[in-house]
Amino acid sequence: MDYEKGGTQKQYYGEDEVITRDCPSCSAKETIEICKERGAVGVVRCRKCSLIYTNPIVKDPEKNYWGDEQKYYEETRLIVEGKAGCHRDPNYIADLKLIEKLKPEGNFLDIGTSMGFFLRHTRGKKWNVFGVEPSPVLSKMACKHFGLNVKNAYLENAGFEDNFFDVVTMTDVFEHIPEPKKMLSGIRKILKKDGILFIKVPNGKYNLLKFWIAKNTGGLKNNDIFDSYEHLTHYTQKTLMKMLADCGFTLSKALIGKPIQLPVWHKYVGHFYVYPSPWMLDMKNHALRNLFYYISKGEFALRSGNIGNLAPNIIVIAKRNDNH
Ligand SMILES: [Zn+2]
Repeated sequence: MDYEKGGTQKQYYGEDEVITRDCPSCSAKETIEICKERGAVGVVRCRKCSLIYTNPIVKDPEKNYWGDEQKYYEETRLIVEGKAGCHRDPNYIADLKLIEKLKPEGNFLDIGTSMGFFLRHTRGKKWNVFGVEPSPVLSKMACKHFGLNVKNAYLENAGFEDNFFDVVTMTDVFEHIPEPKKMLSGIRKILKKDGILFIKVPNGKYNLLKFWIAKNTGGLKNNDIFDSYEHLTHYTQKTLMKMLADCGFTLSKALIGKPIQLPVWHKYVGHFYVYPSPWMLDMKNHALRNLFYYISKGEFALRSGNIGNLAPNIIVIAKRNDNH
């Protein structure tokens, strides 16, 4: 059964629906192709700086989330009505706990708020919370259903004051940004001198490993391993840190977050937000993801802070480098 999403993403993109671009980190043009996904969308590695990025990309990929309000509502109804949790809640709660330890109060901005599933967990905390979300439908839903203060804008048009935020977050968002350096420069302006930037992205090395396994076991077919119709850069710890340093940030912490336990149920019933999967169906995936996660944590400790192939994601906490 096809999983009916609220967005406007497609299963197949033709040559006329994609555009090519230079490396978003070093502007070089020379690449090595890794794979093609959903027709004409490609994943490549930059020959100069090793960044793995999507090229060509879907035109206006953020408009995948412009979508239809009623469909989004149907997809997420139980969560919106407070009758069910979201499968990402354990991740969101862990992320906020970490941020709260470092900055328990002050002005907090979440970029790419979507419908507000992450930000809804800040209710009852001490922060003064803001969101910014380019999708008209999703930003409206975040305000309407969760009472959040979410601006419908791109960050550069949001009109936030310079040196205003104590915390800026991008959870599962930075990999969607077509011009990540421009985004980081914008954040640097609105972040206070001692403010923190929290970024969580999927680990590009993990996707490379999954890709390699699928290719060598004949399981590749139409797998969207890189989700490249919406994920535009596939960061490794090294390429993410390089980009942050280039844009005037210093790293205070890098770590591995818990895996997202995406349910399998949507394959059978069409929606995963509305119906939680029966435990038995998800057990194998959950166990494997947890196994990889714990091995990656061990490896991280042994290799003194190097995030390897088995880590599902990369979390970095960075600060402004005022000597930049
Ligand atoms: Zn490059």
